[in-house]
Amino acid sequence: MLRTYDLEQVYQGRLETDSDLLNELTKIVEQQEITAGKVSAIGAVKEAVISYYDQQAQEYGEQMLNESLEIVSLTGNISLKDGSPIVHAHIALANEEGQVYGGHLEEGTTIFACEYVIEEYSGQAWEREFDSPTGLPLWQQDK
Ligand code: ZN
Repeated sequence: MLRTYDLEQVYQGRLETDSDLLNELTKIVEQQEITAGKVSAIGAVKEAVISYYDQQAQEYGEQMLNESLEIVSLTGNISLKDGSPIVHAHIALANEEGQVYGGHLEEGTTIFACEYVIEEYSGQAWEREFDSPTGLPLWQQDK
């Protein structure tokens, strides 16, 4: 599966302290009506919620991290689900010792400081639909 895109626009900015990381990124994407693109960010969080997909059980298990952590890396993509833009992001978070937690970014991650870059692509956006082999809402070719 492959689609090609052109770079339409690049957005860069800072997110508010104490706001929710995933919700803020989603808000920008909705406001700018971005349907295809890439998200990245660095900074720090006060606490985080990440998840891990259990491939056997086909369900996400959440992990709450109640400590201040560095955002070593946040990378994600933008596509459509049920006709609306959705940010799918993964995050690597380091503690004081430099040990890293990582996983699928969930709501409930509170920003301490965050600088983001969003790239908007022009072209046919991917749409997410239920994929039965994985149990996940994945990009579908025939959409
Ligand atoms: Zn994920």
